[in-house]
Amino acid sequence: MPQFLIDVHVHLNNYHDTTGRPTVENVRELTSKMDEIGIDHAVVITSYKVDMNRPSAEEVIETLAEHPRMTVVEGLRWRGEFRTDLFSLEERIRDGLVKGIKLYPGYDHYAINDPSLETVFRIAAKYDVPVMIHTGDTYSKTAKVRMAHPLLVDDIAVDYPDVRFVMCHLGNPWFQDAAEVLYKNDNVYADISGLTLGEFTYDFEKYVAMRLKDMITYMGDPGRQIMYGSDWPLVHMKPYVKLLGELDFTEEQLENVAWKTAVRLFKIDEASLGTWRTA
Ligand SMILES: [Zn+2]
Repeated sequence: MPQFLIDVHVHLNNYHDTTGRPTVENVRELTSKMDEIGIDHAVVITSYKVDMNRPSAEEVIETLAEHPRMTVVEGLRWRGEFRTDLFSLEERIRDGLVKGIKLYPGYDHYAINDPSLETVFRIAAKYDVPVMIHTGDTYSKTAKVRMAHPLLVDDIAVDYPDVRFVMCHLGNPWFQDAAEVLYKNDNVYADISGLTLGEFTYDFEKYVAMRLKDMITYMGDPGRQIMYGSDWPLVHMKPYVKLLGELDFTEEQLENVAWKTAVRLFKIDEASLGTWRTA
């Protein structure tokens, strides 16, 4: 096992059986899961929608105020009736309450290279916060998956060299395209989250591990750009940590994937990692 473990991709939304559950209860469950599995820090990502089952960034920030093991990334609401107000988003970033921006192309019916996003990328560059992007298969049938294709990330990586982008879910199932975008662009990162829902069945686990190993071979130095993330509560934490162990990373790569790259990208206080174990 690596020295520390940071999960760069978790949610406090309600799915299926948890409908209507208050955010504080989801935080309690997240914290106890982190304790149980040994996750030192988690990056909590808010939704592109706000409703009874999807708390706003403001609510999540307030609920997590006393939780030093959590970092908040704000999901952008870019289409539809209630859009994110960029002035207040910028304030939350300036004040250090939000440490990154998450975009949901496909779900929110825009492509990641849509020119309207320039203002968003300028804020990310100004405060040096990463932009996380949902790439690949969408959990919703009403999303447009073409708009979430990982190859489109190359466009913005080239146009905004000062911004660091994170492709979530490695562009699943377009792993090869995602690998090329990572290999080509130093300012693009990826997380390995959400590659299955719930428990891995044995065959699928083998398939995903095989595809990821292909990518690792293709990219040359994956430790620098790939980060550990689960997509909890959509997946179970324990089998996901197990997947990390099956990817044949070298010891040095594993430390980078497990926590070092995340510390740099999200400016997480390295000295705080692991202190909860002795507290
Ligand atoms: Zn997610």
